[in-house]
Amino acid sequence: MTRHSEATQQWWERARHAIPGGVNSPVRAFGAVGGTPVFIVRGQGPYVYDLEGRRYIDLVQSWGAVILGHAHPAVTEAVKRAAADGTSFGMPTTAEVELAETIAGAIPSVEMVRLVNSGTEAVMSAVRLARAVTGRPYVVKFEGCYHGHSDGMLVRAGSGAAVYGAPQGTSSPASPGVSPGAAGETLLARYNHLSDVEALFDRWGDRIAAVVVEPVAANMGVVLPEPGFLEGLRELTRRHGSLLIFDEVITGFRVGWSGAQGRLGVTPDLTCLGKVIGGGLPVGAYGGPRALMEQVAPAGPVYQAGTLSGNPITVAAGLAVLRELARPGVYERLEALGQRLAEGLRQSAREAGVALSVVQMGGLVGIAFAEAAPTDFDSARAADAGRYARFFHAMLERGVHLAPAMLEAVFVGLAHDEAVVDAVVEAAQAALIESA
Ligand code: PLP
Repeated sequence: MTRHSEATQQWWERARHAIPGGVNSPVRAFGAVGGTPVFIVRGQGPYVYDLEGRRYIDLVQSWGAVILGHAHPAVTEAVKRAAADGTSFGMPTTAEVELAETIAGAIPSVEMVRLVNSGTEAVMSAVRLARAVTGRPYVVKFEGCYHGHSDGMLVRAGSGAAVYGAPQGTSSPASPGVSPGAAGETLLARYNHLSDVEALFDRWGDRIAAVVVEPVAANMGVVLPEPGFLEGLRELTRRHGSLLIFDEVITGFRVGWSGAQGRLGVTPDLTCLGKVIGGGLPVGAYGGPRALMEQVAPAGPVYQAGTLSGNPITVAAGLAVLRELARPGVYERLEALGQRLAEGLRQSAREAGVALSVVQMGGLVGIAFAEAAPTDFDSARAADAGRYARFFHAMLERGVHLAPAMLEAVFVGLAHDEAVVDAVVEAAQAALIESA
């Protein structure tokens, strides 16, 4: 396990004294892999640097919020310029309009969009809108998908909630303090099991407001939708008068310019975004067809608001990122880099005789120490967590920072050029053998 200097240990003591668990979001802790986190002082391109001056190839990328690499000049410049003009007004700015137009131009389901401050807010608000327009209470959610920490979504949730949350029974919440009423209105299904959803619609069809799903699940490792799964959800929701909500907080602008929906050819009613569209600043967004979005206040009666929503610095950073992503050939390049990493890891595992499944779509890569790629929460959790922990530390020692938990994605960005990807693969070759 990585040994830290006295300075890091002291900061970690102070962190744990001042901040619950020492971190401002549970996934940052090393609870699932053991040891203590490193403190990051700066990032540059594909790298982050810790307090001790060590450099890591960063495969966390702010949990997917960063796609151009750290401190990309276009983003840094946009942020500086925006900050120099004032940090927040609480009044309309033209840049917000441009960001909304850019998103609507890219994401097939989106004609209008409302900016919020986090993915949590985006999903919470989309669910409220779905309940409002259908007049129905229930929402179908998939085990192992994570949609932020609002009450109704913290049921059988993936990511940090699966590691640090309360032990979850089939419908018990991932946290004490979640309103039983809210949790009780969440109906659960297994990812990739369309028959579960059919059964729920058979029983509760006229009470289901929406089905919410990560079109590519990225909070239980990465689980790809099987052919027909998303199409089936589209058909069922349409048939029963429910809305289909795609949570593209991770996949939006990461698996392609038009999101997972454009790439996979299934168009939801509402789409939630976050991460990439804020260029590494706090952000979320939800959007859909005009007729639905015009139900949102003040155009319509469904209330949702935010002091800092559409914040000028966030919007400037988001626009700078999207301008870079709109350049010709960018997503082909991202795909090629993602494929190079995935193939390199597969090859290394074969050579080391290790059962490692690797899946990839654009700048999203999933690894699982298992014979076959996981297809749902149960199979994702059945992967070898102990082995992941050993691999994680063996990689960290070689200067590669993976997510400190097995049920997370590996994020590749445009700063991870061929040489960097090859360095990750080289580290993995040794780490796979060492962690056997
Ligand atoms: N939805 C998905 C798919 C996510 O991965 C996340 C966060 O990781 C969220 C929603 C919540 O976003 P935030 O952490 O910005 O609230």
